[in-house]
Amino acid sequence: MREAAKKAGKSDILDQYEKDYPVGPHDQPQSMCPAFGSLRVGLRMRRTATILSGSACCVYGLTFTSHFYGARRTVGYVPFSSETLVTGKLFEDIKEAVEQMADPEKYDTIVITNLCVPTASGVPLRLLPDQINGVRIIGIDVPGFGVPTHAEAKDVLAGAMLKYAREEAEQGPVAAPRERSDKPTVTLLGEMFPADPVGIGHMLAPLGLAAGAVVPTREWRELYSALDGSVIAAIHPFYTASIREFEAAGRPVVGSAPVGRDGTAAWLKAIGETHGCSADQIAAAQNAMLPAIDGALSAMPIKGRITVAGYEGSELLVARLLIESGAEVPYVGSACPKTKWSDPDREWLEAHGCKVNYRASLEEDNAAVDEYEPDLAIGTTPVVQHAKSKGTPGLYFTNLISARPLMGPAGAGSLAQVINGALGNKERFDRMTAFFEGVGEGHTAGIWEDTPTDRPKFKKKYAAQNAAAAKAAEAIGT
Ligand code: SF4
Repeated sequence: MREAAKKAGKSDILDQYEKDYPVGPHDQPQSMCPAFGSLRVGLRMRRTATILSGSACCVYGLTFTSHFYGARRTVGYVPFSSETLVTGKLFEDIKEAVEQMADPEKYDTIVITNLCVPTASGVPLRLLPDQINGVRIIGIDVPGFGVPTHAEAKDVLAGAMLKYAREEAEQGPVAAPRERSDKPTVTLLGEMFPADPVGIGHMLAPLGLAAGAVVPTREWRELYSALDGSVIAAIHPFYTASIREFEAAGRPVVGSAPVGRDGTAAWLKAIGETHGCSADQIAAAQNAMLPAIDGALSAMPIKGRITVAGYEGSELLVARLLIESGAEVPYVGSACPKTKWSDPDREWLEAHGCKVNYRASLEEDNAAVDEYEPDLAIGTTPVVQHAKSKGTPGLYFTNLISARPLMGPAGAGSLAQVINGALGNKERFDRMTAFFEGVGEGHTAGIWEDTPTDRPKFKKKYAAQNAAAAKAAEAIGT
């Protein structure tokens, strides 16, 4: 599909994605449809309409998941057939849909997303007008063969919006933010628990700074405030396209985040120095925060060996906090790529005996659970499933770790609560393992009077026949 898309005129977009979201060591991290990331970013924004163009099954899955996560917003869909796809009529249909929706009373922006098939067929969203009746039109391609994770798809849309907003700001005055701080602000890049920006604001006060907009934003005008930040904090390190826009606007970028004692001390120093604060101001900011973090860490210690895996992009930060809380963390896998913005966290983790694995595959994350035999495995659904099947307690990264504060003293205390609760489950898992022991696995799963006999020879034979049939079909296709 990648080759088809390139031939159909999408090579510059796909080349840019290859640079922004490099694959390798694994070329196919296993997570959900990447378009879910950009879809959620658009659905969370006020006065923003969303239209998908793609196969009905993909759109069904994406809308189902978005409503499962409480989108409470209609997702527009432009269906296609083989005919509308190959004759170019699909683009006309998309244009018509956008024109019908472009009501400035209702919307500031319409986001239209090409999924895999329209991207591979070269449906040229860039030919849509920039705006209709004053409603901004943003077309993006988010194919599974070009954007490796849903996390990075958030960057595709956030970056496209920042580019649009930056160009608007360059042309003349733009809407002022709803609330304007009297201090210079630090823009926070990456989704985080709602209490975290408030906590970060308190940490920044002694530096004479305030917490600014969080990108992805909740409304269009926040994009201008984000671009106006004095420093950009890349809390999540994979927002490559967004960072390109901030740099084009002349804004300095700082990686890592204020997690744990060391992380907070280093982050406040980096932010302060980048903004040009004095050494006294930086020391004051550190002294105001670090004793409270020390207190929270020692009041809620974590004891045990924990492996961490996820696809949110905040895995390294979580691993840091666990280690500072007293846990042994021998492995952290992230489906996101290595960027220089996570270097401070990677270096700190490696210095504390943790193996950092970017673009980690499910097999590697599972192998880490086997190798390190943790007391608790934090990971994606199949990693947690793998751990639990071995009698090891597991916690879902997305639902249970991402959904709580991580920064400053609040983060230290809150993470310890959920982790210690899960570590305490070991005895329950041992009982369950003992209870289910002997019910069989794979072809013997279940309770049988006569245990089924495996027939590996049959499987081998059919696999070979299948491969030959697929090869023959491919030959006909060419
Ligand atoms: S990755 Fe492509 S084919 Fe798969 S669900 Fe997403 S849009 Fe559809």
